[in-house]
Amino acid sequence: MKLLEEKVLAEGIAVSENILKVDSFINHQIDPDLMKAIGEDFAGHFKEHGITKVATIESSGIAPAMMTALALQVPLLVLKKSPSKVLNENMYQTIVTSYTKGISYELTLATHLISDQDHVLIIDDFLANGEAATGAVRLIRKAHATIAGIGILIEKTFQPGRTKLEEQGFYIYSQVRISKLGKDVIELVK
Ligand code: 5GP
Repeated sequence: MKLLEEKVLAEGIAVSENILKVDSFINHQIDPDLMKAIGEDFAGHFKEHGITKVATIESSGIAPAMMTALALQVPLLVLKKSPSKVLNENMYQTIVTSYTKGISYELTLATHLISDQDHVLIIDDFLANGEAATGAVRLIRKAHATIAGIGILIEKTFQPGRTKLEEQGFYIYSQVRISKLGKDVIELVK
């Protein structure tokens, strides 16, 4: 997606060979026009997939996922991160380990918000090792709902996320694909 590619090149900051900072337009300050365009792009891509709900992991996925849900005219499910390991029978729960951040958290979704009739589009800001997306899939599958696909704003193709998810049979659409990061270096997949 050209608009997001331009933004990544203009305002993204490679803080290491693995991490891109996008604080000025996605994570800390949010560019509403860009989010609208991102939502319309995802919706255009997935409109024939029979999606009943969009899902994202709090918090940086919420803005683009909300605009996608608006464009598709379906509800947005926010999968919540919780440090608590307390079992709750009204919640689907799964543990996600983030190698990027070096932490584990419990991902939760209230059972009454999803059913086996749902066909869900997962949206997230980054695809790195695929742990967040895999956790979202596990949670949604606990409700016997099906996964329509995974929409990613920024994929880092030098990390194994896509391979892991494709091996499980998932369809992934990334708006921007980064092949290399380094000091003052952001290289996009042509
Ligand atoms: P994964 O589970 O695929 O390894 O990582 C996905 C999650 O980690 C994303 O939801 C995102 O919050 C965070 N993340 C991964 N890579 C980056 C990055 O390069 N920059 C930022 N800002 N977040 C990242």
